[in-house]
Amino acid sequence: MDIMFSPWRSQYVQSASQAKNADTLCFLCEAAVGDDISTYVVHRSDLCFVILNRYPYNSGHCMVVPYEHTGDITELSNEVMNDIGRTQQQTIRVLREMYAPHGFNCGMNLGAIAGAGVPGHIHLHIVPRWNGDLNFMPVIADVKVAIESLDDSYRKVRDAFQRIH
Ligand SMILES: [Zn+2]
Repeated sequence: MDIMFSPWRSQYVQSASQAKNADTLCFLCEAAVGDDISTYVVHRSDLCFVILNRYPYNSGHCMVVPYEHTGDITELSNEVMNDIGRTQQQTIRVLREMYAPHGFNCGMNLGAIAGAGVPGHIHLHIVPRWNGDLNFMPVIADVKVAIESLDDSYRKVRDAFQRIH
């Protein structure tokens, strides 16, 4: 997982620490209460929301995030965990239809040592994978692996969430 998410992580960590230094909300809390378009929130459920990763490993890289600000998964209620699980399934349905990936990596980096860019606020990564994508990654590791623009992904994925449940 650490290798999986490393291409964008350094930028991510930098943004997160800048936000912390500025004594502002964590950016996931900002997205929780903010404007969907400017924060790239593609879907809102009752207890969690789905946001596009700004430094995607692959097109369609989403994160499922509880509204609650906690870095400790054991603090989340059954209701929140259930909603995260259901929303994960919905996100996979959406990404399957939009991108036809061959598989997914789904996971959480819990704690800074495990590679969490925002250790204080849990987020479940859902990364579409295609046969062969890992093979070309090292070659272009310095280049952001965004096959389409974030704005294109946003429109596509947000619209799909309205159709697919
Ligand atoms: Zn937060």
